[in-house]
Amino acid sequence: MTLHIPFDNSFARLPGTFYASQMPDPVPAPRMIAFNADLARLLGITPGETEEMAQIFAGNHVPSGAKPLAQLYSGHQFGHYNPQLGDGRAILLGETVGADGKRRDIQLKGAGRTPYSRGGDGRAWLGPVLREYLVSEAMFALGIPTTRALAAVETGAPVIRETALPGAVLTRVASSHLRVGTFQIFAARGDTASLKRLTDYAIARHYLTAQGPMELLAAVCRAQAGLIAQWMGVGFIHGVMNTDNCSIAGETIDYGPCAFMDRFHPDTVYSSIDRGGRYAYANQPNIAVWNMAQLATALIQQIDNREAAVERATEIVHAMPALIHAQWLEQFRRKLALTDARDGDEDLVTDLLTLMAQQQADFTNTFRALGSAAARDHFTDRAAFDAWETRWQTRRTGQPAAAPLIRVANPAIIPRNHRVEQMIAAATDGDYTLFHRLTTALSTPYDDAPEDLTRPPSPDEEIEATFCGT
Ligand code: AMP
Ligand code: MG
Repeated sequence: MTLHIPFDNSFARLPGTFYASQMPDPVPAPRMIAFNADLARLLGITPGETEEMAQIFAGNHVPSGAKPLAQLYSGHQFGHYNPQLGDGRAILLGETVGADGKRRDIQLKGAGRTPYSRGGDGRAWLGPVLREYLVSEAMFALGIPTTRALAAVETGAPVIRETALPGAVLTRVASSHLRVGTFQIFAARGDTASLKRLTDYAIARHYLTAQGPMELLAAVCRAQAGLIAQWMGVGFIHGVMNTDNCSIAGETIDYGPCAFMDRFHPDTVYSSIDRGGRYAYANQPNIAVWNMAQLATALIQQIDNREAAVERATEIVHAMPALIHAQWLEQFRRKLALTDARDGDEDLVTDLLTLMAQQQADFTNTFRALGSAAARDHFTDRAAFDAWETRWQTRRTGQPAAAPLIRVANPAIIPRNHRVEQMIAAATDGDYTLFHRLTTALSTPYDDAPEDLTRPPSPDEEIEATFCGT
């Protein structure tokens, strides 16, 4: 059997100002780690022999119909504008239109240097590749918009970081790789023609009913608001919400120093490079708005009636905090098995979160346990929790039974950071058992899961910081 990918490459049909054609750089000894057969089916891909697929997803063999390219973008990194970034180690092979009628990008990450690599080697090491594979697929299974992972391949070549580490390539699938930064670069260059072209492309690809740049902005704001609310609902911390990592399609993209919280605290930061806590858990809604303000600033550059556009864009961006808040409340109502909306719900939610933060309750396990006798075990001051629970039960009077609602709204398992790190350490030694075990358990996160995978870290297992995924 030969692998077949039915490519239809709309981005490659855009003018060359948007990208640089770039072949992947071959590697010595590709070996398949994981192939996502369900996703392949959705994409319309006919799988081939493992050997052949390893060659293709390592970048050694470019499949027919692919138009490999590196995309150009810029972006604000930790609030500072970097005038040129671009795919420094990612190569877009092309797009397919899937069985569901949706167009998706297929991209190799870690496939060699490109014109936008700056000082980088264009490569990825095994750790971040497995982290992204595992966490992005977990995110998908949780029902949260995200890029996905089609394949992970070992390259057989070392990658030099602080030490020599095994190299790998991830095949990432996304609704598109358009970012806020893709707009920013053409706006900053004053290239209005490209900006207009890109706006039309984004509308045609993602928001068909949007009429013009301001309606595109509003649509992206809505998508991002929904996304951030869902992150908050599972205790996810992205870690690097730079504008180049902010997707126009509203998907979670770029799993670098990301993590799911164990014990709840709103100020939690994992990224070792996030010293100021800019991308802390509770600051994510603010940053999403900040990012949309940058998108607004970029989109405005193509509008002749600048004054009216600024006014309209300001309105749209200023409406976003309320949008996020409403979706956040909706998320947490669901988590508390509240099937209708009433005054006082927000206090009920925030009072629980305050108790959890004060008493270092585990975010995932506490919500999952609500309504069961085990819930109070997550608190040191059990009387305080009991008082909250009484309020909750009173509020739930007349509502359907809590248990089944709690189970579908609160996952049993999330990719806990210490398990991810243990998985990476084992894989670096050639043992993929934990990787496959975690991948399987995380594919059905609302089912009960093995105790060792749902348990919070013991003090010696705890991961304080996650380093940037390069
Ligand atoms: P990230 O932090 O992964 O979002 O990457 C930020 C920018 O750095 C992007 O333009 C990447 O393509 C680039 N980059 C990250 N790692 C490498 C690398 N090893 N080689 C070349 N470029 C890289
Ligand atoms: Mg990035």
